[in-house]
Amino acid sequence: MTNVPYSLANLERIQSELRTSPRLLYIDGDFRAAATGETLAVINPATEQVFAEVAAGGVVDIDMAVNAARRAFDDGRWSGQSPAQRSRMLLKLADLMEAQAEDLALIESLDNGMSFMVAKHGGVMGAAAQLRYFAGSASNLNGETIRPATWPGEWHAFTTREPVGVVGAITPWNFPLAMAVAKLAPALAAGCTVVLKPAEQTPLTALKLGELVAAAGIPSGVVNIVPGLGAVAGAALVNHPLVNKISFTGSTAVGQTIVREVSTTLKRVALELGGKSPTIIFPDADLGRAIPAAAMSIFGNCGQVCAAGSRLFAHERIFNQVCEGVVARARSLRIGDGLEPGAEIGPVVSQKQLDRVMGYINLGIQEGATILVGGKRINRRGYFVQPTVLGSVTAAMRVVREEVFGPVLCVMSFNDDDIDVLAAKANDTDYGLSSSIWTRDITVAHRLARRLKAGTVRINGGGPPDPAMPLGGYKMSGWGRENGREGLEAYTEIKCISIAL
Ligand code: ADP
Repeated sequence: MTNVPYSLANLERIQSELRTSPRLLYIDGDFRAAATGETLAVINPATEQVFAEVAAGGVVDIDMAVNAARRAFDDGRWSGQSPAQRSRMLLKLADLMEAQAEDLALIESLDNGMSFMVAKHGGVMGAAAQLRYFAGSASNLNGETIRPATWPGEWHAFTTREPVGVVGAITPWNFPLAMAVAKLAPALAAGCTVVLKPAEQTPLTALKLGELVAAAGIPSGVVNIVPGLGAVAGAALVNHPLVNKISFTGSTAVGQTIVREVSTTLKRVALELGGKSPTIIFPDADLGRAIPAAAMSIFGNCGQVCAAGSRLFAHERIFNQVCEGVVARARSLRIGDGLEPGAEIGPVVSQKQLDRVMGYINLGIQEGATILVGGKRINRRGYFVQPTVLGSVTAAMRVVREEVFGPVLCVMSFNDDDIDVLAAKANDTDYGLSSSIWTRDITVAHRLARRLKAGTVRINGGGPPDPAMPLGGYKMSGWGRENGREGLEAYTEIKCISIAL
């Protein structure tokens, strides 16, 4: 390959390192093998080849990591530092990530299949921005003065926010590094200690992050990183009695399992789950921007995005134009190994995910949908799927109701129904994570935004998650919010102190 936006020597060095030595668990400041000695194979989804091995954390390793995090929390080596000191180390971590952006992005692309440029700019740089945002907010965890109290007499009552304690962070494979940092940054800013369990498919950038955490001066035990199978390491973390909070991003099914499991300990739980998000385009919209944005909101990262715009509603007057536009964009997308120059989207992450996506496409066809473009696996090595647009769909079809987590768009039209009818169509889903509206009519935009049951409403554009903007779902899309003030406060307990004067 020539003209690649990275150093080929770097790529060769990384591949050789990964080939020759298994990646180890990061526990209490040390890298170590799993207690069982077991490893998991890591597959490059663009080649279907095993390119690395990772220690497979199990119950014993999770227990060691949780105990390390517990000690580090209880002795105050992290929460006892001033917010300014914590902030300085988070800023240092951000700088180190940026300095190693190319290595991190190469590893991410090999591991997940995503395009190198997306891994570098969306993934690594986005994660560094997130660390900087939360480094800044570490000093802003204020309580409130409660005045007047309703008790008789004179009182001084106030609240303080304390870190919730040991956090078990369980992350998915779609944006591995960004998802890990999305939990680490606010948890560390709030003064918590963390055991991170990355997805078994994509554990490598999280472990690399462990090296940078140590180099940033974050004390041993504050961050522990234990890859392993969800049902083994993930479940052990969820059930561990010394963990105070589980912060999970992943499928709704696993989120439901976690909720059942924590019913015994009642530890805190935050869930960022699936979505079936609507994009709604009105005839007065700037179609030159709306159409490509609608296409990339489902085809970007091969549809493996929880907030992907998987249901497109276009007004009947522009329906054909919108359909032709998203179909043309699907055809023009450059699909390839994330390390190929110019590749816009890569493969889906695994054979299992490929089967799932193909299963939904075929189900859609059985249910009566028509394929406007795509619909097939791409005939080459790797888990590549054609970007797919399904027409003739109805709200009752499973392909319209269930999260595919792949590059599959369902298109529907609406007419001059009133805004409540349109909102009801958009809200006709068990999920409520995100939504997009495209119109130049500010009144229509606001009236519809009020009626949408979704944690995020984007009007005339958007980008990757902004650390300043709360993100999370209504309904089965989850519990709680990440990012913004709410995202930081989610890692705290409120204490109310009252003094009789
Ligand atoms: P899938 O890989 O089937 O798409 P998810 O996307 O929900 O599943 O996985 C997200 C994260 O949840 C991963 O880190 C995975 O290992 C973890 N996980 C899976 N099952 C469990 C479980 N029973 N308990 C805790 N974590 C789990």
